Amino acid sequence: MQVLGKNLIGFTESSEGTVGIQAINPASGEPIGPLFFKATTSELDLAVHKANEAFAIYRKISGAEKATFLEAIATEIEALGDSLLERYTAESGLPLGRAQGERGRTLGQLRLFASLLKEGSWVNAIIDTAQPDRQPLPKPDLRAMERPLGPVGIFGASNFPLAFSVAGGDTVSALAAGCPVVFKGHPSHLGTSELAGRAILAAAQKTGMPDGVFSLVFDDSIEIGQALVKHPLIKAVGFTGSLRGGKSLFDAAAARPEPIPVYAEMGSINPVFILPKTLKEKGDVLAQNYMNSVTMGVGQFCTNPGLLVIEKDDAFVAKLESVSAESNGGVMLNKGIQSVYHKGIEEFEKYAKVISFGKKPEGFTAAQPVIFKADYQTFKGSETLKEEVFGPSSLVVEASSREEIMEVAHNLSGHLTATVFGSPKELAEYADLLELLEQKVGRLIINGFPTGVEVTHAMVHGGPYPATTDSRSTSVGTMSITRFTRPVCYQDMPDTLLPVELQNQNSLGIWRKVNGEMVK
Ligand code: NAP
Repeated sequence: MQVLGKNLIGFTESSEGTVGIQAINPASGEPIGPLFFKATTSELDLAVHKANEAFAIYRKISGAEKATFLEAIATEIEALGDSLLERYTAESGLPLGRAQGERGRTLGQLRLFASLLKEGSWVNAIIDTAQPDRQPLPKPDLRAMERPLGPVGIFGASNFPLAFSVAGGDTVSALAAGCPVVFKGHPSHLGTSELAGRAILAAAQKTGMPDGVFSLVFDDSIEIGQALVKHPLIKAVGFTGSLRGGKSLFDAAAARPEPIPVYAEMGSINPVFILPKTLKEKGDVLAQNYMNSVTMGVGQFCTNPGLLVIEKDDAFVAKLESVSAESNGGVMLNKGIQSVYHKGIEEFEKYAKVISFGKKPEGFTAAQPVIFKADYQTFKGSETLKEEVFGPSSLVVEASSREEIMEVAHNLSGHLTATVFGSPKELAEYADLLELLEQKVGRLIINGFPTGVEVTHAMVHGGPYPATTDSRSTSVGTMSITRFTRPVCYQDMPDTLLPVELQNQNSLGIWRKVNGEMVK
């Protein structure tokens, strides 16, 4: 498969537009061919109409068939081989090892959802059988399960060109749920997106999926994204990126004549607390591990630890100073992200002290690590210091007492994660801190750093606003499927007309709640 610079409108390639978009190598600043063309609103409209027509067929396709489709996507992506990895590294500036790891994650994600569909119980089938003799009124037969919402609009994240992009978590969960996808590709990795899009469409054709089950449109301005969210046939939106972008899409969706859900995963500073005794005993190792987490992927992870809370400890800060001075940055994903990073650092310098800058890297979008510190009172009084600086930087807040540590936690807004380091005894002493943090985040981590998000059944990658626009959901792991479904109840429906999951026979052998009891 080759990168041809095309929008993919269902099974048809298209380049109606006249405004060119060029991929840029962030290490060298050189353009990478071919030239792409910004999608036109008529191309977008066609993609959404095709998705809507596909929905009439795709919503009825069995779990087993959808599983075959997802597995075929994984096979097609694998078949892209080195060409995908080469394009990924050239467009993102991320190293080959990361590209390989992220491809593995993407394949694993597709196969995990395929296994979920094959097992089948995710539909949450609930059956309350009729009681015709009940007095004073008979009780009807009621049966409910999750059903797909309709065509979904998805925006790719810049920082995971594979796993949170075209064939990433949002797309996989929507396709698994039974929803066709119209994907707005991120302009930072155009070619990687096109290759992944072609893999999805090849898999769709080989497994007999309807034309329109997937489309990919490109733009480097907000026009097509806004039109996608406002399109009346789109029924839900998935997004990963900036707070500004996510909130704008959320507002646009809420202002539609028919408002729709927007699942936006946005900024998070992922606070880390190291409890005092643990800091004294393990400070040296934790300082090094903390720096590794801050600089991983040039700090471009949504779970990057942007805030470290400790009780003032000069020996630990001295150690952090020495390890941060030796830390490495790298090239960032694009010029825009680099410029936002530099502005963020300039703002922090007005309120916090620099503990140390890391080594200065080379490259068009190079970013140098930096660690700041501030006492609790300074942190409390500054809104700037509570904001995310996306990149390899972090702020250490030095509290003077247990009360101040609790105050920091109390004043946190919503985040994806919070981490606490402590011995079992010390954690028990800080049970009130854990209880407070649980109310602020989607994932509470003990004695581990937040970077690294496993794709499993129990993972929650979400959290209260502003981490996301809907804290009741996750964008990673199999629970993400229900973002794109809604429960439907069938009352006194003839057995043969019910979805197979709710029919008396349970021919799929799935777990169902029948009259309040889980049975197969
Ligand atoms: P972004 O600017 O929010 O863009 C993400 C995608 O949404 C792009 O395709 C973008 O389109 C589109 N978009 C943004 N605002 C829009 C709007 N108002 N209307 C319609 N579409 C819109 O995020 P990014 O490019 O990935 O990175 C920029 C910043 O986002 C970073 O500096 C960082 O602060 C943050 N970020 C956060 C995370 C996280 O996981 N929390 C991940 C990545 C980035 P165009 O590019 O075509 O305009």
